[in-house]
Formats: sequence, structure tokens, C-alpha cells
Amino acid sequence: MIEPGATIGILGGGQLGRMTGMAARSLGYDVHVLDPDANCPASAVASRIIEAHFDDADAAASLAEHCAVVTLEIEQIGTAALAAVAARTPLRPGAAAVHVIQDRIRQKRWLAEHNFPVGAFRAVASRDESVAAFEALGRCIFKSTSGGYDGRGQVRVSTVDGAADAWSALGSRPCLVEQFLDIDFEISMLVARRPAIGPEEPECVVFPVARNHHEHGILDWSILPATAAAATVRHAEEVARGIARTLGIEGLVAVELFVLRDGRLLVNELAPRPHNTFHATERGCATSQFEQLVRAVCDLPLGSTEILRPSAIANLLGDLWDNGTPDFAASLMVPAVRLHLYGKASARPGRKMGHLSAVGTTGDDAVERVLRARDAMRR
Ligand code: ADP
Ligand code: MG
Repeated sequence: MIEPGATIGILGGGQLGRMTGMAARSLGYDVHVLDPDANCPASAVASRIIEAHFDDADAAASLAEHCAVVTLEIEQIGTAALAAVAARTPLRPGAAAVHVIQDRIRQKRWLAEHNFPVGAFRAVASRDESVAAFEALGRCIFKSTSGGYDGRGQVRVSTVDGAADAWSALGSRPCLVEQFLDIDFEISMLVARRPAIGPEEPECVVFPVARNHHEHGILDWSILPATAAAATVRHAEEVARGIARTLGIEGLVAVELFVLRDGRLLVNELAPRPHNTFHATERGCATSQFEQLVRAVCDLPLGSTEILRPSAIANLLGDLWDNGTPDFAASLMVPAVRLHLYGKASARPGRKMGHLSAVGTTGDDAVERVLRARDAMRR
């Protein structure tokens, strides 16, 4: 067990690193962060910032030297950097799990090989294969293998010419091509798992299901807990636990899922870290996802994932800053709404600057509050 007072290292200093750092501080840990930007959001809670790229193995080794454990808030960390950490201190989640997840093709193949439910897909490595993939799958989405997030690095295709164009648009590099699915709604699961100490299966807990709404590929709002059929929830839990166990996760793994109009439940993608769709755990759950990550990587008893109140979040994208600083005070007039800002110096369209959270009598009530508060904020 890594006792409070020790230092936790975080690879990545974005908002997820910042909020994880805040939870670590609350529990009495010190926090060191590696990020390319010394003024990153997590710099406010870190006592040491190593300014370096995510493929800098020497910098990663330097982070690990002074930390009792290292975790991550971004999966795009170079293999040599992950190895440099793991050679010096526990890296949680481990390099093998991160390796599977950090490449979309590898991840989708891994899911299919382990019989987790996924939609039809192909890996393509040329213009001809791109066209063939469209001919086999019909309407589809091209996704670059790495580095894509918030819908970036993706092209939707509905014609043969479009497939050839998508191949070029994504840099003529290997891509994952997924059949375009007829989605009824999107949900996500979050599993926390402690390191295994003996032959027994380690402690593993699942948060309640989140219901998510995306606009232009970016999360817009999320409700906790989702109202979904009991059978869907059970199935999603079983899939998420299975993924965490098979990957040997130490820490958190988030699982994004689609519920299709025909009722099927399919895995979209995984993340070995805290997830935007579980920010509402800070308001609605007995334990936040950030505290849970700290507990899991420090091998402390995992916290209860019990729902205290239905809750919701809405993201605040840089677009809200188009006409100057948003009217924060107006949003805070809405009952039970709280403002979370990430301390990012410049607002760009599509950039996540913060989020609003609220509790309510129901999930719908909570989401209505955060959306009303966000509207009130617009200038
Ligand atoms: P990101 O890493 O940017 O979150 P995702 O693969 O999760 O990328 O895609 C972002 C969003 O695009 C999803 O949440 C979903 O709304 C939509 N999407 C992704 N894949 C598909 C698909 N195969 N069919 C239909 N919609 C999809
Ligand atoms: Mg996603």
C-alpha cells in the first residue's frame, strides 16, 4: 500500500491530471506531473512539473525516480517512456494495457479476439483497401489509429470517392474503418481495479452507467446514472468487468458503448484513465472517479460507487468564449449548479475549457439544470 504522504506521478497535465491531482492532494499525497507545457492545467496542483514530450524516456525516468507510483491521464505515451517508468516504479495501469488501447486498430482487434461485442470494422493500409472497406461495410467512419480525440482524426464516408478522399485526408496512413452504426443512445462504464496481491481476483468495482450525448464527435453532456433497461445495464457491467480483468487493469478503465436501435450493445472504445463522462461522480457518487483512481493506484481500499443523487455535466467548449469571457455568475444562479474550470490560458473552438455539474431529483432534471446554466452563460 502506498500511504498518504507519498508522491504520485502523472503522465499528462491536462484537466484529467489536474482533477486527479486535486483528489490526490485531498488524500494527503504530493503530485508530480510530466507534460509538454509547464503551464498545463495540472501545474496548479503539482509540486514538480517536468516539461517534456510524451515520448521522452529520460524525462519519464526522471518523473519515476521521485514517485512511489506513476499513473497517466492520456494514453498517447511513447513505449520507451512507459518502459522507463515501469523499470523504476509501479506504472498503473501497466504498459501492456496502455499498448493495447493506444492504437485504435490494435484495440479493436483485441476486443474482437477476446469476444467482446464490436461492430464490423476493417484495418486499411492503402487507398485500394480504403475503397474495398467501403464496398464491404457501406456507410462508414475512418478513424486514424492514434492521436485522435473529441472526434478529431475521423472522417465519415458515404461514397466510394469519399473513401479515397478520407484515406488522403487522414494522411495516407493506416486507419481503422468502422461501419456506421444505427445508434439509439450512447453509454459508458467505468471500472476501478486494484493491483493483484495474491492468487485471488483483486478488488474491482464498477460505477453506475453514464448516458452520453455527443455533438460533432465531442461529448456535450452526460447523465449519471443512465436510465436504461436492467438487462442492458447488466450486460454492460459484465462486458466492462471482463475488459478490466482481461487487460489486467490497475487503476481505471473507461468503456464507451453504443446501444443500437436493434437493441444490440457494442463496445466503441476504451480509455485507461479517468473519463469525461464520469465527471459527475464528483457530485452524484460516494466516491469520485479521481479519488477512485488514486485509491486504486495506491492499493487503498476502493471507495463505494453508490449513487447519492442523480447528477449531470455539460462541457464548456472554447466557442463559449467567442464574444469574451462567458457570464459565469449567470450560470451559478441556477440551483445546484457548480462551475469547474481547467485553468487553460487560451480558448479555442472545440477546446474543453471546463464543465458545469449539477445534482437533481432525476438525471433529466440535473441535465436540464446544467444546460440552462450553460445557456445563461452565453454572451
Ligand atoms: P473519440 O476518441 O474522438 O471519442 P470515438 O470513436 O468515440 O472517438 O467517436 C466519437 C463519436 O462519434 C462517438 O461517441 C459517436 O457519437 C460517433 N461514432 C464513433 N464511431 C461510430 C460508428 N461506428 N457509428 C456511428 N457513430 C460513431
Ligand atoms: Mg470516444
